[in-house]
This record gives sequence, C-alpha cells and structure tokens, in this order.
Amino acid sequence: MSLKTDLKKYSRKVYEHGFTAATDGNLSVRFSENVLLITRSGISKGEVEEKDIIACDPDGNLVMGQGKASTEFRMHRYIYKMRKDVNAVIHCHPLHATAFATTGNTLDIPVFPEVVLTIGRIPLCRYATPSTDELAESLSQYIEFANVFLLENHGAVTVGKNLKEAFYRMEKLEHYAQSLTIARTLGTVRQLSREDLNKLYSAAEKVYGIKLHEKNKF
Ligand SMILES: [Zn+2]
Repeated sequence: MSLKTDLKKYSRKVYEHGFTAATDGNLSVRFSENVLLITRSGISKGEVEEKDIIACDPDGNLVMGQGKASTEFRMHRYIYKMRKDVNAVIHCHPLHATAFATTGNTLDIPVFPEVVLTIGRIPLCRYATPSTDELAESLSQYIEFANVFLLENHGAVTVGKNLKEAFYRMEKLEHYAQSLTIARTLGTVRQLSREDLNKLYSAAEKVYGIKLHEKNKF
C-alpha cells in the first residue's frame, strides 16, 4: 500500500472513530530525510483523498501536491527530527483524552497492564499556541521516550514506526481515558503496585518481546 493510500485510510479512520471534528487533526508520514507527507490544511479527515496529501520540506514548503500543508507541520517535523525511530505522527482531539488534557486530570498513572506496556507514560505537555514552534517545544521534555502525548487544553499526539502503530496508540489512549472515566464514577481506581509493575516489566521482554525506554516506565 502506498504511503498516500495509507494516509487516506487512517485519516478516515480517525474521523470515523470520532477522534476529530470538523477540519481538526492532522496526520503525516516520513517520506524521506527531508520530505514529509501530511494532510492538507482545512479538510475534514473523513473526506481526505490522495490529492489532499501534501509533500513538504522541513520549512513547510510545498514539494508536491496542491493546497497548504497542515498548519501543525512544525510539530510533525520536530518529532521526525528528534525521533529517528518514528515514521508516522497523528494529532487528534479524542473526546475523553482531550477532557483529561483540559482538566489536568492525569492519565500518567499505571492502571491497565496492556496500556503500561504498549503506551507507557502519557505526559501532559504544557499549553502552547496551536500551529507555532511553541507547541513543538512543549513536547521537548518527553520526546526522547514518550509515544503518546496529551496537549494541555488541546488534544493528543501519538507516534509510531508506521501509521497503524500510531493509530492503535490513539485508539488505545481514548479507550483508556474512557475506561478510567467510567471506573471513577463507580468507585476508587486501583493502580498497579510496584510489585505488579516489576513483574510486568520483567515479563515484557521475555514474553511479549517489548523493549521499553527506561524513562517510559513507571
Ligand atoms: Zn489540534
């Protein structure tokens, strides 16, 4: 599947899952050392066609395609620059995760073992003006190790080795935020203990073949 076809597919998926409204959100993939493919500005992710994918250089200049690159290309290029293991970035406003990002109510706690292993830490990046370099800089403390970021009063960003992985992380983030919201209406949330976590981390490599960045562990 071509990268453009993949971008169209996952743009539509984030819209269908309700992770974006109106023309919100943006998705990109690393195309080469100096070119990224990104959804164009001002289009609903539910209506993205291959012609709505723009190739741009690190300064946002058009390399191929028609229209303007998403205004958030600065954040995307920052992530690709800092993380050589990342080839795909998704930015959305999923309802529950965004609600957590707006209240400062942290998701950065160990509750579900699968979330601990596949996402790890979920930092809340301080508020920054959308579409500016300031937004990219708000990720700087965490970019080395995190794969999922909450943007204060804004939304969420996930990264992955490909779009599928970045999408699964977004889906898992929202599912986790929703589960935690429901759990709190029912009672007290039990967090995993140090002992639970130690056992989980020792099983991670042996059983699941997952290697976590040390800073991405609780
Ligand atoms: Zn946004």
